[in-house]
Amino acid sequence: MPMAPTALLIGGEWREAAERFDVRNPYDGTRVADVSRAVPADATAAIDGARPPVLSPYERAGVLSRARAHLAGQREAVARTVIAETGFTTKDVAGEIDRCLETLALSAEEAKRIAGEVVPFEGAPDGAGRFGYTRREPIGIVVCITPFNAPLNTVAHKIAPAFAAGNAVILKPAERTPLSAALLCQAFVEGGAPPGSISLLQGAGAEIGPALLADPRPAFFAFTGSTAVGKRIHAAAGLRRTQMELGSIAATLVLSDADPDIVAGAVAAAGYRKAGQVCTSVQLLFVEHTLGEAVTDALLERVGALRSGDPAIPDTEVGPVICASDAERIAGWVAEAEARGARVLAGGERQGCLVAPTLVDRVSQEMALRNREVFGPVVSIVPVRDLDEGIAEVNASPYGLAAGVFTNDLGRAQRCVEELEVGGVHVNQTSSARADLMPYGGWKESGFGHEGPGYAIREMTREKLVSIRAVP
Ligand code: NAD
Repeated sequence: MPMAPTALLIGGEWREAAERFDVRNPYDGTRVADVSRAVPADATAAIDGARPPVLSPYERAGVLSRARAHLAGQREAVARTVIAETGFTTKDVAGEIDRCLETLALSAEEAKRIAGEVVPFEGAPDGAGRFGYTRREPIGIVVCITPFNAPLNTVAHKIAPAFAAGNAVILKPAERTPLSAALLCQAFVEGGAPPGSISLLQGAGAEIGPALLADPRPAFFAFTGSTAVGKRIHAAAGLRRTQMELGSIAATLVLSDADPDIVAGAVAAAGYRKAGQVCTSVQLLFVEHTLGEAVTDALLERVGALRSGDPAIPDTEVGPVICASDAERIAGWVAEAEARGARVLAGGERQGCLVAPTLVDRVSQEMALRNREVFGPVVSIVPVRDLDEGIAEVNASPYGLAAGVFTNDLGRAQRCVEELEVGGVHVNQTSSARADLMPYGGWKESGFGHEGPGYAIREMTREKLVSIRAVP
């Protein structure tokens, strides 16, 4: 196991704390490490020690590039750590590392492009001889609070743009995946991040979060996690800015002209990647009824062939979920649906944290599989009469993160683009489609604000207007 720091990083120093917590491998329950547990006083100390980097954008880009190189240089060891604490498969972790490296590279590039705009003062009634522009300045201290399910790349999507923008960053990663985050912070330090520009607090969000929020000094809270916690953070932030990437019941809509095999291939990947613990994972697959059987058959064949088990075995395609209580909850929801008349076409069983890749149909409105976020390897197929009903079904969700649409009919695709109430519509891709450079964020109960380094930097800087009269 490498050598992820188990300490807190405060004011540029790694400090082991007296209080500790265990990190356990979700697959076999073995102890991976014990990690320093921050208390509220550590949150205050991190804020006291926070220092925005006194570096030019060019120099900040250099730090980010070196952090990237450092992480890439220990790729194998990083992968072992991420697998051990998440239970993600070798393939999923390779994707997580590749995307994290990409996010760091994008953030380095964007650091060099931070710019305001020219304001056309001469268009104003008394504008003759006046000109002006806006400039983007760092906002101050940015607190980043992250979930377990993308322990490198979501962390990178918060801390790298925040640093690129010139802010001091305080990170509070998920308590189940502290080591991946620590490796990333270590890479920043190795890359030359000045003392106090990156701080790391490990431990219980419910304890450290309120302490960070109660202090008026942090200016921005960048959060990814559940809607319930996001609402608490946003309410406590007051007039300070937040970025809220929250929960979701992601749906993909398959129209009658789609190719069932293409749909099945895409959904078998997007619905079960990371054991379905992805906020845009296909939870509901709405299929225009004339194609229903063909899509179900094609998907069933693929889901039945997915190999689930020990994530450390390279062939494994679906590993465990993060903890036994989540596995129990997911299996319970499948059982509840079955008892109410749903048909479990594949999977449904669980053993420890392993939930078998599960495919269900005849899922109705009142079932948890339909109306709550599953965050597990379960896809439910729901037939719809036509495009109108499909759009209405996707929009019936309280969430609105992303939706996929499969069709080659440009007119029908365009209707989905215009009418779906989500932050991202992906045509001929599932809801899970993403490139790290794109603006990524939700609507409705899925939150607001954007990841994607160029977009996040805009949110994590404040704009100052400069107006100049040439002749006083
Ligand atoms: P979570 O909300 O339980 O925890 C997220 C983070 O919040 C953790 O670091 C936790 O310690 C911290 N936290 C908990 N209580 C807090 C409090 N009172 N104040 C401050 N921080 C607190 O989420 P999770 O279980 O780690 O992740 C799963 C959830 O994240 C799902 O709902 C999923 O949809 C969502 N998610 C959303 C996106 C997105 O982009 N919209 C991406 C990934 C995950």
